[in-house]
Amino acid sequence: MDKKDYYEILGISKNANSQEIKKAYRKLAVKYHPDKNPDDKQAEEKFKEAAEAYSVLSNSEKRQKYDQFGHQGLGGTSGGFGNMDMEDILKGFGFGDIFGGGFAGGSRRRERSIKGSNLRIKLSLNLEEITEGVTKKIKVKKLIQADNVTYSTCSTCNGRGQIARVTNTFGIQMQTNSTCHDCKGIGKKVNSKPSFSDHNGMILKEVTTEIEIPPGISEGMQLKIQGEGNAGPFDGIDGDLIVLIEEKKHSELIRDGINIHHELYINISEAILGCKKEIPTINSRVQISIPSGIDNGKILRLQSKGIPDINYPQNKGDLLIHVNVWTPKKINTEQKEFFKQNLHSKEFIPKIDKNQQSFFEKVKDMFN
Ligand SMILES: [Zn+2]
Repeated sequence: MDKKDYYEILGISKNANSQEIKKAYRKLAVKYHPDKNPDDKQAEEKFKEAAEAYSVLSNSEKRQKYDQFGHQGLGGTSGGFGNMDMEDILKGFGFGDIFGGGFAGGSRRRERSIKGSNLRIKLSLNLEEITEGVTKKIKVKKLIQADNVTYSTCSTCNGRGQIARVTNTFGIQMQTNSTCHDCKGIGKKVNSKPSFSDHNGMILKEVTTEIEIPPGISEGMQLKIQGEGNAGPFDGIDGDLIVLIEEKKHSELIRDGINIHHELYINISEAILGCKKEIPTINSRVQISIPSGIDNGKILRLQSKGIPDINYPQNKGDLLIHVNVWTPKKINTEQKEFFKQNLHSKEFIPKIDKNQQSFFEKVKDMFN
């Protein structure tokens, strides 16, 4: 991720003082303010960018971290404005007061909706569920609005969440806006609520959610189920449920992307004579024929017995059977005699088939 330098965004030098930072930000904020640039995505991006830069550089602690370590130093705490609601930027963060001269709250009367927080859960799936796709019923404890909660518009700010103050300095009228201390910028207050609910009138409740798992999902992937997280207080927007996928280990099969690998062990007689073997697949067991004279290291391919590609589920991987010829460690006198007799017989002299894949080709093949 190439993030732009905050100083560059604001067009200031590295040693700009707080007044210069504020001035630079105000200039950009006014220029790209959504009220001036309705439905202009580019302006919105610029506005968000400037807000993010300002939120960091105007905070001495964050600025120091940023100066020292760059964007990395801020970790997740910089508050990536990229994903944020404009409304949040315009109203929150205590710098709503930056827009002097009648900007901000005055012209934007839309009520702010509070989004509930996201919930995170882990979900373990076996290979069969991953291959077929599955609908899982999950119990989640989440915040929901209690019954009989009523909200009313904050009378201190008339629901704006901001309080405007007009000052007159040297004959110049300035309007500054600050977050309403009464409702903390929400614009609403709890009117009545049951005693067992929290201060916002929310309660924790266990609910069952159905999660649709697409075939081909893998460990570490995240599914976002919109609106299944904590409910937003004050009739706000529901948060999301983030599902982190984990993969249960299979006792006989190893997954590698869309392909599945199985290590098959046969004995030396089976290798010489050929044999039938039962092989595990993802959802059953199948019998396969091992041809006589098979070499150790040979890979047998069961086409389309693997896992579907998550983006193109009709494309399925293969099941690759790695043949390992096991050599006995102890044999009896009779068996020893047999092998001694054959030590130099012409059938036992290795004959390399020129058409047979080399080891390296096999490896290449395995990963294709
Ligand atoms: Zn208020």
